[in-house]
Amino acid sequence: MEFDFDVFVIGAGSGGVRAARMAAGEGAKVAIADDRALGGTCVNVGCVPKKLYTYASHFSHDFENAKGFGWNLGAAKFHWPTLVANKKIEISRLNGIYAKLLDNSGAQIIRGYARLKDCNTVTVEGKDYTTKRIVIATGGAPNIPDVDYADLLISSDEIFDLVEFPKRLLVVGAGYIALEFACIFQGLGSQVHVSYRGDLIMRSFDDDVRQFVDQEMRKQGIEIYYQSQVNNVVRQADHSLLVTFADGSQIEVDQVLMAIGRQPRVAGIGLDSLGIETTLKGTIAVNDKFQTNIDNIYALGDVTGGIELTPVALAEAMVLVNHWYGDGAKKMDYELIPTAVFTQPNVGTIGLTEHQALAKHSEIAVYRSDFKPMKHTLSGSDERSFMKLIVDISTDRVIGLHIVGEGAGEMLQGFAVAMKAGATKADFDATIGIHPTSAEELVTMRTPS
Ligand code: NDP
Repeated sequence: MEFDFDVFVIGAGSGGVRAARMAAGEGAKVAIADDRALGGTCVNVGCVPKKLYTYASHFSHDFENAKGFGWNLGAAKFHWPTLVANKKIEISRLNGIYAKLLDNSGAQIIRGYARLKDCNTVTVEGKDYTTKRIVIATGGAPNIPDVDYADLLISSDEIFDLVEFPKRLLVVGAGYIALEFACIFQGLGSQVHVSYRGDLIMRSFDDDVRQFVDQEMRKQGIEIYYQSQVNNVVRQADHSLLVTFADGSQIEVDQVLMAIGRQPRVAGIGLDSLGIETTLKGTIAVNDKFQTNIDNIYALGDVTGGIELTPVALAEAMVLVNHWYGDGAKKMDYELIPTAVFTQPNVGTIGLTEHQALAKHSEIAVYRSDFKPMKHTLSGSDERSFMKLIVDISTDRVIGLHIVGEGAGEMLQGFAVAMKAGATKADFDATIGIHPTSAEELVTMRTPS
């Protein structure tokens, strides 16, 4: 049978665009459909604008820190509409780059919401397209609780473009998105409150890191409430929001950001009508070749409920295309994926937490360093840095590496290569440090704690 396309990708986010471009580069006839701006969550309402806003929020700390180095800067004033407008310009530029990359690769961009009609037909805006293979890469969307005050809550999709800067912000949740925005808005001048249902922020991270970040965030003035649950939110006459917690306490804020995880974006795509299997969480079930239970329909990235990180979706797309058009030798390796949380200070982490290491290995050595970074000897800031190495004694392999401090994400990338290559503690010890840096701590830790 003759098809309109070899590959039809639904969703032009990081994974979808990469799959479309790579497949088109192999000579396949490719279409990619999306009803929203090209680039998906990462470009439009995720990694990219988040990092730009993180830079923006750093300035207040830098202005403060500069005084100890002799700078007298006068009163600094932040103008939110300028940041929002400049961010929009940059995101539009990136949307254009994505369009150009797709065009240049030969993939056809189809604008509109795509639905599966049958296993070889996709319908977009009433028009049917036949295809040999389909890739679902529709990503995810923020969870908003089903409560009667839901219209008073915002998510990470809305927060970047708020018309009014929120002078007081409540963030619900204590994972990546919650804590990154808490630090961004505190740095930009908001009074930030964090409400978390558990006992300590960042559940999946190493306990020392969790405690350290909690302490550093509090030093900046962020209020963190544990065992906390929002019971009600009411709009008041002055337009502020009155939040009532389960323990009866109340606070007044200007916005409530829900950052309580994400769900797959699959509504209306037609998974049910084709009988595509999903997991209990509603994500699309795939095998190690990203194949659903229907042979020619594939899914990758956040919609499959794996590790929700852009570089993971990109890597999955490369593996998929290699499986179709290459030697099929590429496999996804989900071990030792480095990750950074752009809190202030940043967190960079790879490998096992101390708890995980103890459960997996009979004997481990743990090296810790908690220190005042050199910059803050003059800045007057009481910010501290923390580093931790976890070593499997039987092999001497470094199996966990955790950094909290300025530039942790940048530092981690290089160490991640060493970890992937199987670096031992002896390799770390044999590496000459770069002086004076914070990173040199990681190669000069000699005494297990
Ligand atoms: P996370 O899973 O990181 O955090 C969700 C938070 O919400 C947790 O604190 C969780 O608590 C809490 N939570 C979950 N359900 C509820 C509920 N029903 N009521 C109250 N609290 C709840 O998800 P995010 O939304 O922050 O981020 C999604 C993913 O996006 C991340 O896992 C990450 O992979 C990716 N991301 C990566 C970034 C980066 O690389 N820097 C930045 C932003 C996002 P508990 O711990 O108790 O379950």
